[in-house]
Amino acid sequence: MLNLHNVEFVRSAVKTGDFPNDALPQIAFAGKSNVGKSSTINRLLNRKNFARVGNEPGKTVHINFFQIDEKVYFVDLPGYGYAKVSKKERARWGQLMDEYFASEDTLTLGFQIVDIRHKPTADDVTMADWFLQTGMPFVVIANKLDKIKKSQLEGNLQTIRTTLHLPEEVPVIPFSAEKGTGREEVLALILEHIEEN
Ligand code: GDP
Repeated sequence: MLNLHNVEFVRSAVKTGDFPNDALPQIAFAGKSNVGKSSTINRLLNRKNFARVGNEPGKTVHINFFQIDEKVYFVDLPGYGYAKVSKKERARWGQLMDEYFASEDTLTLGFQIVDIRHKPTADDVTMADWFLQTGMPFVVIANKLDKIKKSQLEGNLQTIRTTLHLPEEVPVIPFSAEKGTGREEVLALILEHIEEN
């Protein structure tokens, strides 16, 4: 069991030294700016504005750590792929992500959120490779399901799968942060993961 009402914002990290260094599993969420990463985290927790929705893209080069029921961290990785970001901010993003992925025993399950309407971008592909290279369990959340027709679903999921070069064992979960579709499936994966770690 995981009490989703017991949620605590721990800190906003800008460097390795800020990352929590206890033994709790860390479930990380990554995605392009505006893909609905904050909305997805809020939907999973059934909170309205816990992770900040509509954060100004490019102004969020920090990693937010939330502790859930003293059992697991949700790790909100900084969004990427916003065109108007300065070179300096882009470099900061790269460095912070490098540090996060390099720190030992941190990440134990990775979620990448993509937009179910579109072919994943080059940045999405890079992000997926990053997760896959860790060898940790990895799941893709295909968000904004409410914005496509049913007839588009299978084709779009296939495009996501092939573009991100996903191995068969990586699930792609159709999701709508807006409507709550897919929430139970994602929560089940999270619970299973916590029990195993
Ligand atoms: P972030 O930048 O990835 O954290 O994205 P946000 O959570 O701030 O969401 C960006 C925009 O997409 C907001 O206007 C959300 O209301 C909208 N949005 C997020 N998820 C969904 C969804 O599942 N369906 C629809 N229709 N809109 C969504």
